Amino acid sequence: MSDNQALTETISSAKSVIPVFVLDPKLIDSPNASHKRLAFLYKGLAQLDADLQEKGSKLIIRQGNPKEALSNLVKDSGAKQLYAEADFSPYARTRDVEVARDLPLKLVGGSCVSHPESVLKKDGETYKVFTPFMRAWKSLYQFQTEQLLPVPEHIHTPKGIASEEIPVPTGLSSSLLIQPGEKPANNRLHDFISGELRGIYQYSDTRNLMDIRGTAQISPYLRFGMLSARLCVSAAQQALQHTPDDHSKRSAEIWLNELIWREFFISILYHYPSVLQQSFREELRAIPWRNDLSEFSAWCDGRTGYPIIDAAMRQLLNTGWMHNRGRMIVASFLVKHLLIDWRWGEKFFMQHLIDGDPAANNGGWQWTAGTGTDAATYFRVFNPILQSKKFDPHGNFIRKWIPELSGVPGKYLHEPWKMPKGIQRQSGCNIGRDYPLPIVDHRFARERVLEVYNRAKKVYQQ
Ligand SMILES: Cc1cc2nc3c(=O)[nH]c(=O)nc-3n(C[C@H](O)[C@H](O)[C@H](O)COP(=O)(O)OP(=O)(O)OC[C@H]3O[C@@H](n4cnc5c(N)ncnc54)[C@H](O)[C@@H]3O)c2cc1C
Repeated sequence: MSDNQALTETISSAKSVIPVFVLDPKLIDSPNASHKRLAFLYKGLAQLDADLQEKGSKLIIRQGNPKEALSNLVKDSGAKQLYAEADFSPYARTRDVEVARDLPLKLVGGSCVSHPESVLKKDGETYKVFTPFMRAWKSLYQFQTEQLLPVPEHIHTPKGIASEEIPVPTGLSSSLLIQPGEKPANNRLHDFISGELRGIYQYSDTRNLMDIRGTAQISPYLRFGMLSARLCVSAAQQALQHTPDDHSKRSAEIWLNELIWREFFISILYHYPSVLQQSFREELRAIPWRNDLSEFSAWCDGRTGYPIIDAAMRQLLNTGWMHNRGRMIVASFLVKHLLIDWRWGEKFFMQHLIDGDPAANNGGWQWTAGTGTDAATYFRVFNPILQSKKFDPHGNFIRKWIPELSGVPGKYLHEPWKMPKGIQRQSGCNIGRDYPLPIVDHRFARERVLEVYNRAKKVYQQ
């Protein structure tokens, strides 16, 4: 409810307001839906209802095709105007155009700070590379705390409007890493900016370390609008202004840039919706993927024999969230080491992430696969052993998620297949029986993928 532009405009234009959330079967029953993400949403809706009740209001739930559900609500209530925040995904845009054809819908603000039509080159072209986009973005968007909108004091909602029940969340463990709702979201942001650790000022050192909480962990809140993106940007800009030392400034700047990556990928999806179906780079559209099913399932289950990959995948399966470094390493491994189509990984992530978002997820996968707009060069192939040693130096992350390896000495934790038989016996872990051998050799896989990508480029150029 804080810094909600649509809510603020509604309250200033009407005496009565009916907060409504439509459960759209197209999204809820989609093959890309994740049980954990839905549970996060449902718990978040229950929390929103409780927060609204504190303000004298209540959340109305309707189920069905959004246009029909809203038409019925307008008929039931006599509402004169509909307000919503804009969502820029292709599905949401088509849906909102449909709704607006028959109903008085006004979109105010959006799920991100910048409208994708607002950050363009001077000639009206879109930015396809992050750094110039980021510079242009920063010249357009500066927030002062006073510009952010407060939580309304009171919301008058008429009584007697029929509502369906908020579905009961299932599949969400009580030990969830990230608790849904606006209060936990604001607390987490506040803690990251001003808490004891003041994470934002350490971010340049901590953001890649997988064994500590070195990032804000706010992506699910941004995904569902439980936290205002403008509030996060404003907090980063304030932090930048108020820190005297260069290291802290650099950290806050890097964090602000991450928020702008989110805006960048939203803009890319808005202007190039076909990225959801195909590689952005034409020259890499015809890669002959191997798509080996048993290797794909080993990757999905966290059984590749590379501890850092398996630990990150198990973190995802258990919590619905994965560290950004983990996302990059496992995505690179699937695409480059196993030569499995990045779209398979993208879909699997959508089926499991609580922050699963079409723009950021597609952007992350295409970036890692080297097929996207602003991508890592395709010949960069992450070495899972070096990444493991660098970003989980003490092996705490691996030991947490792979109990089979908990007794393995640090020296062998990142490449346990090198462990002599005697040490395997002592540590209670027989490699090949208790924990798998690597499903592919790193050096072999690196050469293979480079050859395949080079060939695909050559064929395209002929
Ligand atoms: C293969 C792959 C898939 C991804 N899928 C998603 C996804 O479905 N949903 C999602 O929100 N993020 C996705 N990301 C981006 C990133 O991993 C997460 O946003 C980040 O891990 C969230 O953790 P945090 O909130 O602690 O981030 P912080 O490091 O604290 O960053 C703050 C915020 O900035 C944004 N952000 C940070 N990094 C990125 C990035 N690379 N791209 C876009 N936005 C970013 C997020 O909103 C994040 O919450 C993906 C990255 C990769 C490599």
